[in-house]
Amino acid sequence: MALIVHKYGGTSMGSTERIRNVAKRVAKWARAGHQMVVVPSAMSGETNRLLGLAKELAPAGSSAALNRELDMIASTGEQVSVGLLAIALQAEGLESVSYTGWQVPVATDSSYTKARIESIDDTRVRADLAAGKVVVIAGFQGIDEENNITTLGRGGSDTSAVAIAAAMKADECLIYTDVDGVYTTDPRIVPEARRLHTISFEEMLEMASLGSKILQIRSVEFAGKYRVPLRVLSSFTPWDIDINEEAKSGTLISFEEDEKMEQAVVSGIAFNRDEAKVTLLGVPDKPGIAFQILGPVADANIDIDVIIQNVSHDGKTDFSFTVPRNDYARTLELLETKVGPATNASKVVGDPRICKVSIVGIGMRSHVGVASKMFRALSEEGINIQMISTSEIKTSVVIDEKYMELAVRALHKAFDLDQDEKS
Ligand code: ADP
Ligand code: ASP
Ligand code: MG
Repeated sequence: MALIVHKYGGTSMGSTERIRNVAKRVAKWARAGHQMVVVPSAMSGETNRLLGLAKELAPAGSSAALNRELDMIASTGEQVSVGLLAIALQAEGLESVSYTGWQVPVATDSSYTKARIESIDDTRVRADLAAGKVVVIAGFQGIDEENNITTLGRGGSDTSAVAIAAAMKADECLIYTDVDGVYTTDPRIVPEARRLHTISFEEMLEMASLGSKILQIRSVEFAGKYRVPLRVLSSFTPWDIDINEEAKSGTLISFEEDEKMEQAVVSGIAFNRDEAKVTLLGVPDKPGIAFQILGPVADANIDIDVIIQNVSHDGKTDFSFTVPRNDYARTLELLETKVGPATNASKVVGDPRICKVSIVGIGMRSHVGVASKMFRALSEEGINIQMISTSEIKTSVVIDEKYMELAVRALHKAFDLDQDEKS
């Protein structure tokens, strides 16, 4: 008998019919003798709908007071899901009980809309499991020290599931979604994308951090830190398929670098449309300038991603960096009113219509010429590269947003990702 955590995303929970299917699948696992904890997301579209209502009434700007209420509202989506799923499980003849984040409790910090899980008390859940119940826990949410409801950022149910699996030392965490695993890139953009049987933990971490929305990055971080066996698989297979077959399906996030993975130089392509670029023109090229520019941005709690400083002319240089698109207006204002004048910049310009496209692969460590192959493929499509950033196992470029799909397709082809895995 194993302790298994299942996570079901919004599409998988998208209607009462689908919730019934989830219940039948979970019941199959429970009847096979496993202790089951299930973490569902809100029904698809529900989080957007709730946040849309809030937006209609919200004052301009952002504040902790506003974000607190956004979490209050958004967390209700998952509260509905857990109740519905627990009822559907009872209809399958199982004993089942649902909990919100605060009832467990899942303790987080107080960063509303992007809170981090600090600890999970599993006492109540363990008692239910021991009593033979299937426990359904709301994803995406927790509670801070002052008993305020918090949420974990979009896609946060993945993180809830993995964190619960880690806290309970579950034997496996299965992430059920609307695709049958992790692909070489988003199959919605490149239909030829291929499912990976395994992906190394490091590659998955890069893919997630570079914008691939299949798993929230923090869920991968948790899996790595606590070595949670993690698999991404489809919730759209017939619920009554053989359980052993199901247990082997999808994509395993692997902690071992097997030989096969080393053969693929590039394993996947990620893209991110959620960033914007800002540039300070004509700042003095002197020690401390990067700190003078980026310090106030970091102090304003704005995440900085790709940074570029150009060669200087007559002691002056141009300094560009990217920030989350949500923070674009705030960053521009900060640069125009404070940082620009303080650094004597001649001008502040910005472009929110950019995207970042990245190639990822642990094979890049031991191969040369990978980045240049990437640049050639993009130049053959006439795509101009605005910024470049590299690390050991990835190369990212910032380009005009309108070329994103073209770039992803061209790179997918250039690195032969649509070809079958070599064995
Ligand atoms: P869920 O609601 O189950 O959490 P998400 O929409 O958050 O589902 O994530 C699944 C989606 O991620 C897929 O439908 C797919 O379009 C997208 N996706 C992005 N990159 C990849 C990838 N490399 N492999 C598979 N799916 C990907
Ligand atoms: N319901 C939340 C969202 O839409 C969390 C999740 O789906 O993982 O972002
Ligand atoms: Mg998701």
